[in-house]
Amino acid sequence: MTNNQRSAQIFNKLHDLFPLPVTMLAWKNPWELLVATVLAAQCTDARVNMVTPKFFQRWPGPGELSRALVSDVEQMVHSTGFFRQKAKNLVAAAKIIMREHCGQVPDSMAELLTLPGVARKTANIVLSNALGKHEGIAVDTHVRRLSFRLGLTTSTNPAVIERDLMLLFPRQQWGDINHLLVLFGRDTCTARKPRCQDCVLEGLCPKKGLGT
Ligand code: SF4
Repeated sequence: MTNNQRSAQIFNKLHDLFPLPVTMLAWKNPWELLVATVLAAQCTDARVNMVTPKFFQRWPGPGELSRALVSDVEQMVHSTGFFRQKAKNLVAAAKIIMREHCGQVPDSMAELLTLPGVARKTANIVLSNALGKHEGIAVDTHVRRLSFRLGLTTSTNPAVIERDLMLLFPRQQWGDINHLLVLFGRDTCTARKPRCQDCVLEGLCPKKGLGT
């Protein structure tokens, strides 16, 4: 079996398990997804979903947030961790979006990467989920761990993993494979105790790094 055939089988089995792979973050437009994804760094989606309704009630879009006091934003996002940096970046990103993008979240990787606090992972999530553009694959801690265990990459470097995954999966699957690996990483192939005995990928997985 070639690597691409094995990847296709992994995708199909995970898709059978999670037929509707979507982010657990709550969002209604690209701006909301951008804010939620920035807040989700080092924080759970559940916690972010508790914070964002009040956040968007007070600052519905980049126009309102660009005029906010950073200290007020800090207070609002305090419980998501790294609140000073997140608040500062979000207000600065809102200002750039108002000044240079007519109040619209930019729809290219290059432009998104100019926003403070936005790296490839966040940009990929916004592009593929909210803007329907697949320019890459978001690599978070789950995608990184599973890609390595499953032998989809030999690297633990997110940039290299993203490139390896992009070679293994067709472009139209780039958004879904991120969600599938995240969902599966939370459910079965967890960091501390992977449930290999219950795993639908058991026959396809070399279990790299597990020492078994
Ligand atoms: S067999 Fe084990 S290590 Fe491999 S994907 Fe399944 S749970 Fe993870």
